[in-house]
Amino acid sequence: MDRFDIVIVGAGTAGMPCAIEAAETGAKVLVVEAEKQTGGTLHVSLGQLSGAGSRLQSERGITDTSAAHLADIERINRGTGRREILDLTLPRQGETIDWLMENGFDMDSSCPTILHLHEAYREARTYWGVEGGLSVYKVLKPLFEKAMTLPNAELRLETRATGLRLSDGAVTGLVLAGPDGDYEVATDRVVLATGGYGSNAALFARLTGGRDLYTAAMPGSDGSGIEIAEQAGAALRGQDLFLPTYAGVPEKPGSNRVIWRQMPSLTPQVRQPWELHLTANGARFVREDDPSVDNREHGLVEQPDMSFWCVFDDDILREAPPVLPGWTEDELSAAWDKRPDFVTAPDIATLAERTTMSPDTLAATITAYNAACDGTAEDPMGRIHLPRSIGPSGLRAIRMRGMVLKTPAGIDVDETLTVIRPDGTQIVGLHAVGEAIGGSTLSGRGFISGMSVTPALTLGRWLGQRLGTLAMEANAE
Ligand SMILES: Cc1cc2nc3c(=O)[nH]c(=O)nc-3n(C[C@H](O)[C@H](O)[C@H](O)COP(=O)(O)OP(=O)(O)OC[C@H]3O[C@@H](n4cnc5c(N)ncnc54)[C@H](O)[C@@H]3O)c2cc1C
Repeated sequence: MDRFDIVIVGAGTAGMPCAIEAAETGAKVLVVEAEKQTGGTLHVSLGQLSGAGSRLQSERGITDTSAAHLADIERINRGTGRREILDLTLPRQGETIDWLMENGFDMDSSCPTILHLHEAYREARTYWGVEGGLSVYKVLKPLFEKAMTLPNAELRLETRATGLRLSDGAVTGLVLAGPDGDYEVATDRVVLATGGYGSNAALFARLTGGRDLYTAAMPGSDGSGIEIAEQAGAALRGQDLFLPTYAGVPEKPGSNRVIWRQMPSLTPQVRQPWELHLTANGARFVREDDPSVDNREHGLVEQPDMSFWCVFDDDILREAPPVLPGWTEDELSAAWDKRPDFVTAPDIATLAERTTMSPDTLAATITAYNAACDGTAEDPMGRIHLPRSIGPSGLRAIRMRGMVLKTPAGIDVDETLTVIRPDGTQIVGLHAVGEAIGGSTLSGRGFISGMSVTPALTLGRWLGQRLGTLAMEANAE
């Protein structure tokens, strides 16, 4: 049986930098990746990053610290992230930005900046590459491929980890399923860098309060690493910290897959709303122009099915900037013709019937909003942007869904990123990093700009260096 100092499971956002650093220490490293390609979620991620104290910030005269970054995160998520893990990653995240730049990262010229897609930081510390996640991948790929040419390193693609071997509570090996069948490797250090579970509806329901899944996650985000850890006795955390992203429209009726290009434009700082957002009953549940996306996401998570109807009319469709700017003309006309979640109606009663909203509630909601538009009353939700009234004829509604970019629950780890059991004891030799430790570990109950990709890179590198060094020390004894 082959023996390795470290086996890294998953060659994605966290696994690749982990492997680069571990291989450079001289430790004998195996990387296994279930897919045919490396890169994981970087193929679809927007790749927004955050970090305080980068060289780019100082070149722009921005004074920022990891303490200020932490304070901003804890303001946004009301302190629901894990302080010990934030303390591990935040002081290193500025260096991660510098490291990407040193290795040819194609930074968007507007960065660092304050981003409003998620709840905004108070300081300009969000960055992204011109190609989003792919810009990050383009830096990692050559470094990773070079590391895998070292005599002490090996990559096995299309190889899935399926279970752990343990003895006396410590890792002794890993069970793998490769192109030629199942086999085992011996190792006393395994890193689960397997990502989240945003493509596994059953696991999502189990770990996230029985909710339906609407998702933009990569198919490889199947949660198998979390299940492997669970079977080995690991504790899980973050099951109660889900917040949906506001909001998506599935690519096809009946599908739960959302394509990022097709996301509706619902950020008031980018496009002020002309529409109403209504519950299944026809009532409003948010101030549509609330500058706080966190407020809107908390409103949405309270809806039983995390969906809402985006209601407008033909005049708004003609006059307003598009609410679905990423959809082609053909996609839109096919949707209005055929999809049950794209509804047209000649009047309010018919719209209520076709969307199954309560006719009385819908009529009352539209009447109250229109009075605010006409200036005869205050908007009941306190909305300020009141461009024009809606209806009474030529009505339209699109059903939008609270959706998943990253999953909240994951494998519980201590501040050395060693996996722990429910009683707090370590599973010796088992480590986890990236979204596998739960998106809520760093973001809490919220979506904090750059706080998935940057910690995956930062802690991936930190863990790879640490485990590689420990392995080399053990080998020298
Ligand atoms: C559309 C979208 C936009 C996003 N935008 C942002 C953003 O702008 N900023 C941000 O911070 N976050 C963003 N996120 C979240 C962020 O991209 C992810 O949380 C992060 O990339 C996950 O990194 P990871 O290394 O944990 O997992 P991944 O990058 O998904 O890598 C996991 C790898 O493990 C492999 N794998 C899984 N199970 C096994 C197994 N059993 N055996 C072998 N291999 C396995 C997978 O195939 C995959 O290659 C976004 C997510 C999505 C979906």
